[in-house]
Amino acid sequence: MAATSMDQLVALCKRRGFIFQNADIYGGMQGVYDYGPLGVELKNNLRQAWWRAMVYERDDIEGLDAAILTNRKVLKYSGHEDTFSDPMTDCRKCKGRFRADHIKDGKCPNCGSTDLTEPRPFNLMFKTMTGPVENPENLAYLRPETAQAIFTQFKNVVDATSRKLPFGIAQIGKSFRNEITPRNFIFRVREFEQAELEFFVKPGEDEKWHEYWKQNRIAWWKEQGLSEENMHIYTTPQEDLAHYAKACCDIEYRFPHGMEELEGIANRRDYDLGNHTKGQEEFSLEAHVHANPDSTQKLCIRDEENNNWIVPFVIEPSMGIERAVLAVLTEAYTEEDLGDGNSRIVLKLKKHLAPIKVAVIPLKKNHDGIMNKCHEIKQNLLKLGIGRVALENTGNIGKAYRRHDEVGTPLCITVDFETLENSPESVTVRDRDTMEQKRVNVADLPNFLRDYFLS
Ligand code: ATP
Repeated sequence: MAATSMDQLVALCKRRGFIFQNADIYGGMQGVYDYGPLGVELKNNLRQAWWRAMVYERDDIEGLDAAILTNRKVLKYSGHEDTFSDPMTDCRKCKGRFRADHIKDGKCPNCGSTDLTEPRPFNLMFKTMTGPVENPENLAYLRPETAQAIFTQFKNVVDATSRKLPFGIAQIGKSFRNEITPRNFIFRVREFEQAELEFFVKPGEDEKWHEYWKQNRIAWWKEQGLSEENMHIYTTPQEDLAHYAKACCDIEYRFPHGMEELEGIANRRDYDLGNHTKGQEEFSLEAHVHANPDSTQKLCIRDEENNNWIVPFVIEPSMGIERAVLAVLTEAYTEEDLGDGNSRIVLKLKKHLAPIKVAVIPLKKNHDGIMNKCHEIKQNLLKLGIGRVALENTGNIGKAYRRHDEVGTPLCITVDFETLENSPESVTVRDRDTMEQKRVNVADLPNFLRDYFLS
């Protein structure tokens, strides 16, 4: 089967209402996208799958939902003000601006000119002003990662929950980066969402936990439908590590534009908690921690075994929801030859990720008896809590099946004249992947669907 192309995905996403260019009617805004009726469901399902695996299924992780607006001092002491930048090169001919590592053979990627400036650092954080007065004291940032609030709230969470090491804090939320060259659809954008876990461990146990989280996350991605042969682990060489990291590996995925980072798993050691801590001299910290005269807190935890206070190390699995959307769509997109001269597009999403779980379809449009039965079935199925159940009223059963194949709806339920005439009442249930249809009694539908979706 041919690999999925980006053009196929972009077309499907627009046609079926997954993803739209932001401000489309004004020509769009580069690196910013809006999620349509099905995109919002897919994102919600991915968030839920991550939250469930991180928070609900474990006993050692708490959740957090912190603000996007970030006090400047947080990003000063985290090192982002000084170091969160990409080297950037300007083309003197076409005035384009590009990341230096995106320039190939010394030529402008836009016009091919070799008249380029030397690379200069470009800070990626979005600045804004809080309050009515525009002065430097009111400067704030839109967070470039969700992680920092987990560090600054560390003490509050520990005090509120009496957690002991090892334990983690998980968060999902928007992050903003003024990427120089947003590209490849939703892969590199300026406004995106991160799902980040900061897992705090004793210094010395960090390497063991780093390996643990690498394996844990690969297993999670497989549960979302990604196949092993499309994933690759890249270990960052020491000289390329981010300013805070002791070690880092990326789970890469074979996106339509190539094998690229899907999720990073970093060992951030005691860098962040240490740098946000006052009176650091009392702790035995790594060399990269700088004096902090502004913080009012010691971000430490009691080590019962050794009867002292320590600043933990932290392992951070961090993924972008948009890249997760792109990866699961890439993997699920399938064009099938039906053997009769026809073909179909089918999105073979895992059922827990499918935006619509069940479509209830009337055989005849606007027929009162059939429509009433459809409404009744839909209302009953909603009570199961399986997710979105859609009601169709198009009257063209073949078209409805095709449309639901394209958006990955696992089951279609058709209500026909037999449903009304026969006793007991029954409907046709069609499976997306096998296209097999079977008759199921209406009274048995809740159990049938419960088994199908919740087991
Ligand atoms: P890249 O090297 O691709 O720029 P990064 O190493 O800077 O990514 P991290 O800071 O490790 O990324 O962020 C963690 C995760 O957040 C990434 O693995 C990715 O899934 C997501 N992410 C980061 N930047 C973007 C972006 N501009 N658009 C969409 N997702 C992003």
